[in-house]
Amino acid sequence: MNRILEVRNLKKIYRGTDQPAIEDVTFTVEEGETVGIIGPSGAGKSTLLRCINRLVNPTGGRVFIEGEEITGARAAKVRSLRRRVGMVFQHHNLVGRLTVMQNVMHGRLGYMGVMDGVLGRYSEEDKQRAAAILRQTGLGDFFYHRAGELSGGQRQRVGIVRALMQEPSLLLCDEPIASLDPASAQIVMELIRDICRKRSIACIVNLHQVDAALKYMNRIIGMYNGRIVYDGSATDLTGPMIEKIYNRPMTQLMIGGERIG
Ligand code: ADP
Repeated sequence: MNRILEVRNLKKIYRGTDQPAIEDVTFTVEEGETVGIIGPSGAGKSTLLRCINRLVNPTGGRVFIEGEEITGARAAKVRSLRRRVGMVFQHHNLVGRLTVMQNVMHGRLGYMGVMDGVLGRYSEEDKQRAAAILRQTGLGDFFYHRAGELSGGQRQRVGIVRALMQEPSLLLCDEPIASLDPASAQIVMELIRDICRKRSIACIVNLHQVDAALKYMNRIIGMYNGRIVYDGSATDLTGPMIEKIYNRPMTQLMIGGERIG
């Protein structure tokens, strides 16, 4: 098994605050593992994800991606390590006026020279690959549609395809289904699970929905107040443990596609 990610004693204190948003966060992720991060609002899930690829600079601790340290690395090294880390956001971060194909090709920019990128000179091979992945994800009829014309679920799928174009070894998904209806959320979670399985991509998904985390991810990390309070298999996660993570009795936790926290 290849170790894809190692997080050691990670800590973040945002400027102007004195409470750490995350503290003492330590875990590793191996190739092909799918990890759901759950916990109430403000637990530090998003901060953790953003510290991993240095969208947020941690205050302390270390992060290694495939054995190479990203914390403390210079800009060029950070850029090269980020190619290995695909990022999927709640609000897709697509350019609405560009076509699906153009958005997806943006996933290749990290591999191209500046001029080729600016002028959109993508290789034929990359275009063919984009077309193939779009077809596999049920978006074969939408190559030349503007991203802004698609439904939320379709846009999220385009966001995932764009991340895949980077050929990542790690996929980080920050609340990928938070603004989707239950049917679209199911399609998106199945897609994330299936592509990670098929391509042996390690994956970390922040989720408000405990049921989605249990159903689609094989490992769960529970966070409370900036710290990890559970790290184990989805099947071992008990009701009392969920209550501890959310610091609330089960009767108050609406599970079944509802938002928690
Ligand atoms: P979650 O994703 O679990 O909802 P976050 O990582 O967004 O949690 O937030 C963790 C804590 O850090 C919260 O107390 C939040 O208010 C704080 N926080 C998040 N982002 C910032 C920021 N940019 N500046 C200051 N505090 C922040």
